[in-house]
Amino acid sequence: MSQALKEFLMKKAKLEKVFKWGVRWSLWPVHLVTSCCGVEVAHTSAPGFDAERWGVLPFHTMRQSNVILVEGTITRKMARVLRQVYEQMPEPKYVLAMGACAVRGGLFWNSYHIVQVDTIVPVDVYIAGCPPTPEAVIRAFIMLHNKIKGKPGPYIEPAKVDLTPYLPPPPKPPAKPAPQPQQQQQQQAQAAA
Ligand code: SF4
Repeated sequence: MSQALKEFLMKKAKLEKVFKWGVRWSLWPVHLVTSCCGVEVAHTSAPGFDAERWGVLPFHTMRQSNVILVEGTITRKMARVLRQVYEQMPEPKYVLAMGACAVRGGLFWNSYHIVQVDTIVPVDVYIAGCPPTPEAVIRAFIMLHNKIKGKPGPYIEPAKVDLTPYLPPPPKPPAKPAPQPQQQQQQQAQAAA
């Protein structure tokens, strides 16, 4: 659909409400299962909780999805993939950070290779817990519904905590090896020449 036609339909034909209604009830999250949080998403979609009642239908590939559910730790290596795939997804697209690890690093907060999801892609809803329960995941989707409707909240914003005092001191650079007697003689000879 061309941009001009889209603008016409949204503004002049006032289809924005219908469009948002359609998006709200067609949230297709793809699992980005990087750690243990992923098992709770299986429960969320199973008959007991049945997230499909809110239009949440798990999907297989990110390029055909409109929600990324980041389930667990994101390492530096994985961060590049997350960003790349996020950019390939069609608009409108949303990101949910599930679990303490995705939100602020969780157990691995001071690890050398963990990054917070919101430093890589914009996060729409944070889901607290380790792991979050299926009820918490469904609540996050309801919050996303509210956001799409234009009535956001109630959100849980993770606190920005300065953790630097708790970090171990940076490693000292390795000491230079003492020159060997033969090297010393060479250096002295070079200095004398
Ligand atoms: S938040 Fe807890 S359950 Fe989820 S990935 Fe981290 S350690 Fe695993």
